[in-house]
Amino acid sequence: MTSTASQFDITVVGGGMVGAAIALALSQAGLQVALIEKLAPVAFDAQSTPDLRVSSVNLASEAWLSDLGAWQALQQMRLCPYQRLQAFEHPQSVVTFSAIDIERSHLGHIVENNLLQLALWQQLGSNVQLFCPSSVTALEQTADSAILTLDSGEQLNSDLVVAADGGHSLLRQLAGIGTNGWQYRQACLVALVKTPYPQQDVTWQQFTPSGPKAFLPLNGQQGSVVWYEDAAKVKQLAALNPAQLTQELVKAFPNVIGDVEVMASSWFPLARMDANRYFAGRVVLAGDAAHTINPLAGQGVNLGFADAKLLTELIIDAKRHNSDIGSAQLLQRYQRKRKPANLLMMSAMDGFYQVFGNDNTPLRKLRQLALSVAARSTMLKTLVARYAVGSE
Ligand SMILES: Cc1cc2nc3c(=O)[nH]c(=O)nc-3n(C[C@H](O)[C@H](O)[C@H](O)COP(=O)(O)OP(=O)(O)OC[C@H]3O[C@@H](n4cnc5c(N)ncnc54)[C@H](O)[C@@H]3O)c2cc1C
Repeated sequence: MTSTASQFDITVVGGGMVGAAIALALSQAGLQVALIEKLAPVAFDAQSTPDLRVSSVNLASEAWLSDLGAWQALQQMRLCPYQRLQAFEHPQSVVTFSAIDIERSHLGHIVENNLLQLALWQQLGSNVQLFCPSSVTALEQTADSAILTLDSGEQLNSDLVVAADGGHSLLRQLAGIGTNGWQYRQACLVALVKTPYPQQDVTWQQFTPSGPKAFLPLNGQQGSVVWYEDAAKVKQLAALNPAQLTQELVKAFPNVIGDVEVMASSWFPLARMDANRYFAGRVVLAGDAAHTINPLAGQGVNLGFADAKLLTELIIDAKRHNSDIGSAQLLQRYQRKRKPANLLMMSAMDGFYQVFGNDNTPLRKLRQLALSVAARSTMLKTLVARYAVGSE
């Protein structure tokens, strides 16, 4: 370490939704935080086309983001609440999970990733020093600190480094943490569409033998559609122009989608990744840097916020008691709670993926049975709705 290294309690690498929330929560508790991000979010423009990357944010995440003051800022921009979640194989037999069933006003919101990130950034105060655009080139660890070298040559010395730099985390590699996982056979095409209907309050998913097809409502007469298919087919679809893709989409999706028009599209490979450990020395992983999950049930960033909430609570508590905020004991507690919870959700999604995205006859029967049982059971529907909002 050089003698000119700047000193921080915590350095967060990656200012996406999860990293920015961690930096905000810690800085609000009085910790001195450095936040390193490659690319700053752009200013909000009410006339802009929505971000292609959208997330379904559950009530548990919403509550925490409200405590941080970021949810209120997001509400000043754009977001779309939904009251109902529907699953079906055939449009004539739809299973509906409703907010009313669990006495809530809504089940969640569909938010644009870049707007939620911006809302968090807008709350960052003087306890956060932003390094942006900036990236890390080296990590060195001693018994009581972690030293990062930035691409500017500057060095930052902290008690703890949080790696929130996404699924391809460089920090995870620099810390020597390996991963387990695989790429799924399917990929997904995401398209932003104009719909003929006023703003919708329902998100639905149709399960078909070639993979699920989902609709997520956005602000106004807009929506996001997610089309899971064999990766080769997704790449072909992604090469079409908006008019051609509109034709394919209307043909393949159930009629309930209406006469939509594609405005923009992109495609994503689907991967499952689980970091072997959540920390090494004084580097700890959070969000997609620790785990990536099949987006089938829209849980990715909600798991990341659950990581962020627990990690920041443990750190703030340690700071209050003048304990070491980067101790192995603290990081073990975080790992012990979050790793099994994240793994459980990943495995549940894999089971779901097997049963619902498959043309195998016994599995098709199981799928039909599961949907018809769910359609008749109020208790099951209530349980699923509670699970969707993140309360159980
Ligand atoms: C198609 C698709 C649909 C999805 N839908 C949902 C959904 O409905 N609900 C849901 O909850 N989740 C969903 N997800 C998952 C969700 O998008 C991720 O879980 C979420 O973005 C993770 O947030 P993060 O902040 O951990 O990582 P990221 O969003 O990846 O942010 C990482 C940040 O780190 C920065 N960065 C990276 N490397 C460096 C570096 N070396 N130096 C500095 N900065 C760096 C990046 O610029 C970025 O800002 C979906 C994912 C996909 C692919």
